[in-house]
Formats: sequence, structure tokens, C-alpha cells
Amino acid sequence: MIDKTKTDESDTVPCNVCLKEIPLSAARSEESETYVLHFCGLHCYDKWRSQEESSEETASPK
Ligand SMILES: [Zn+2]
Repeated sequence: MIDKTKTDESDTVPCNVCLKEIPLSAARSEESETYVLHFCGLHCYDKWRSQEESSEETASPK
């Protein structure tokens, strides 16, 4: 059992792309089997998605 004294609104997480602190309740999250990522909005989420896809499809260096 976790005794949580904080309210949910006071919990913040860093955006995985721009590292901005965002309220957990407002964050978009992407869960996989090995990690949970948080994003401040669709802009950062799309940016991360495109990076993930391009890294999978191409092996060329940046
Ligand atoms: Zn962001």
C-alpha cells in the first residue's frame, strides 16, 4: 500500500521530448512493456513518434 499525501494535481513529470515539467493529469503517455513516456502535448508526441519510426526504418546516421 502506498500512502500518498500529495494530490494528483501536484504531481509533475518531465516531457520526454522538451523536458518541460507537466502535470501528470495533463500529460499524454505512451506505455510499452519496458517503459512509460510522457509528453506535454501532441506536438512533442508526434515528434517522438517520427523519430522512433525513422530510427527503425533507416540505418543511416544523422
Ligand atoms: Zn514537450
